[in-house]
Amino acid sequence: MEKKRVLLIGTGGTIASEMGENGLSPELTSEQLLKYIPDISSICDIACCQLFSLDSTNIQPKHWARIAGTIRARYREFDGFVVAHGTDTMAYTAAGLSYLVQGCPKPVVLTGAQRPIGFETTDSKQNLRDAVTVASSGMAGVMLVFNGKIILGTRARKTRSKSFEAFSSINYPLLGMVQDGRIIPYIRPEARAVPQFYDAVNPRVALMKLIPGADCGAAAYLLERNDALIIESFGVGGLPTYKAGDYYDTVKAGLDAGKTVVMTTQVENEGSDLAVYHVGGAIKRNLPILEAYDMTTEAVCAKLMWILGQTTDRKWVEELFYTPVACDILAGK
Ligand code: ASP
Repeated sequence: MEKKRVLLIGTGGTIASEMGENGLSPELTSEQLLKYIPDISSICDIACCQLFSLDSTNIQPKHWARIAGTIRARYREFDGFVVAHGTDTMAYTAAGLSYLVQGCPKPVVLTGAQRPIGFETTDSKQNLRDAVTVASSGMAGVMLVFNGKIILGTRARKTRSKSFEAFSSINYPLLGMVQDGRIIPYIRPEARAVPQFYDAVNPRVALMKLIPGADCGAAAYLLERNDALIIESFGVGGLPTYKAGDYYDTVKAGLDAGKTVVMTTQVENEGSDLAVYHVGGAIKRNLPILEAYDMTTEAVCAKLMWILGQTTDRKWVEELFYTPVACDILAGK
C-alpha cells in the first residue's frame, strides 16, 4: 500500500522547547523534532514546515488563521496534517481550526507535550508518533491527540497542568484511542467531500468569569471595548442582582449597542440551562442573549470570533451560533 503523505506544521510549545536562562522556550523546528523519531518514516512520508516558534501563551487568533491558511494552501499535496503546538492554548487553537477548516475529510491533528522532546523523560515522542498515526489514518476533521486519546477539536480542554494526561473531552465521548501504534476508533466524525475554509476572525471577544460580589462595572468595561462578551456564570446559569438592575441593565445596554452576549457556566461538565432558575429565566425571556448549553468555553470564544469575522447582524449571529459545527453544540435552543 502506498504511504500517506503528512505535513508536520511547527508552531513552538514545550515539545520544541529547550532550557534557557529564564526557563523553557521554543527553539526547535519541526524538522529538528523529527530527528528524535527517525522511525516515523515507517508510518508515512512526512514533510515539515515551520510557521512560528511561540510559547502558546503568545498564540493569538491571527495565528489560527495562519495555520488554517497553510492547510488550505497545501491541502492537495497531503493526506493529513499534524500541528505541533504548546499545550496551554491548544484547546483554543483546536476549536479555532474547527471553525476555519470546516467539514474537512482529511485529518488535522494537534499535538504537543508536557515535557520537551530532548528531556530524558518525555511524552513528546509518543504524542508525535500517535498524532502522525492518526494523520495517516483517513479519520476526518480537526482533532487533538494526546496521551493516547483522540479528542474532537471542539470538545478539548486542558484539565491538568503537569501530568501527561493533560486533556479531557468535555460533554462528548472520545473519538478513539491510540494503543501501541494502533487506532481504536470509537466514533467516525462526519465530513464533506471538500473542506470549507474561512480566513476572517474577529478577536474582539471577551470573557468574564463571575465570582460572588463581582462588580458589574467590569462587564460594562468589557462590553464597551469588545464586540462580544461571554459571561461564565455559576451552575446552570444566572445573572446576579446585587443592586436593583445592576447586571441586567449593563447587559441590556451592551445588547442595545449591538454587542453579542453569551451566557455559559464555569462548571466543567453538563453545561448551562438558564431556564431552570429565576436568576437565569428572567434574562433568557427578556433579553436577546445567547446561551452556550453544552459547549466548552474555548469553543464559544472561537465560534464567536469566526462568526463575528463574517457578520454582526444579530439574527445571523444567533443562527450561526446555534448551528452545530463539528458537534460543538448538542443541546437545542
Ligand atoms: N507553555 C507551554 C506552551 O503552551 C506549555 C506546553 O506546551 O506544554 O507553549
